[in-house]
Amino acid sequence: MSPIGVFGGTFDPIHYGHLRSAYELLQDLELGEVRFVPSAAPPHRGSTFAPAELRYRMVEIAIAGQDGFVVDDCEFGRDGPSYTVDTLGAIRAERGAASLCLIVGMDAYLGLTTWHRWEEILGLAHLVVAHRPGWQLPNTGALGELLAECGTEDVRELHRQPFGRIYHHAVTQLEIASTEIRGLVAAGKDPRYLMPDGVRDIIVESGCYTN
Ligand code: ATP
Repeated sequence: MSPIGVFGGTFDPIHYGHLRSAYELLQDLELGEVRFVPSAAPPHRGSTFAPAELRYRMVEIAIAGQDGFVVDDCEFGRDGPSYTVDTLGAIRAERGAASLCLIVGMDAYLGLTTWHRWEEILGLAHLVVAHRPGWQLPNTGALGELLAECGTEDVRELHRQPFGRIYHHAVTQLEIASTEIRGLVAAGKDPRYLMPDGVRDIIVESGCYTN
């Protein structure tokens, strides 16, 4: 069975930076699927701008029709902060011995040691770090030690083992951030071409980033 990519994020809103990275990883790593998991209550920020249901809907519209892309609302039924370690535990319980690959951008990876029970994450999934071409993962400090212990350059390792390795992969870097999109919309500008039209339509119709 091919590995399952787990792509968590606030997706407030989802944009082509997220989608292109996920698509390249789906193909290049020969993942069976990429599960987009919108965070219900992101631990690292006070509150989101668009409510969870709307962010879920935007992801659903953005990935519609793409084989291998699925959206997962598994964080919505839990109370309290949406910790990645709990999400991976839930997917692990559901998918048994399947290989799980937690997909993170370089910025998220650099903050890994601030995550709730971060030491348990590699016991549940591999870490796949998507980064811009030419970038290297840090090789000093706690993350350097982790990389020395768990890093692999061999993508087949992600298929052979269910969890425990760190793999990094260069993806086309689109300099798009949700923060900038929200700022643009709040300033009365149109976010067209930064995300699929269906997502843009939801933003315009709901007015979720207008104030
Ligand atoms: P915000 O600007 O609100 O912080 P964001 O655009 O960074 O949002 P998130 O939903 O916080 O998006 O990110 C989810 C995941 O997607 C993270 O692992 C992040 O590193 C990654 N990511 C964010 N923007 C990009 C991008 N342009 N290209 C590739 N990956 C991205």
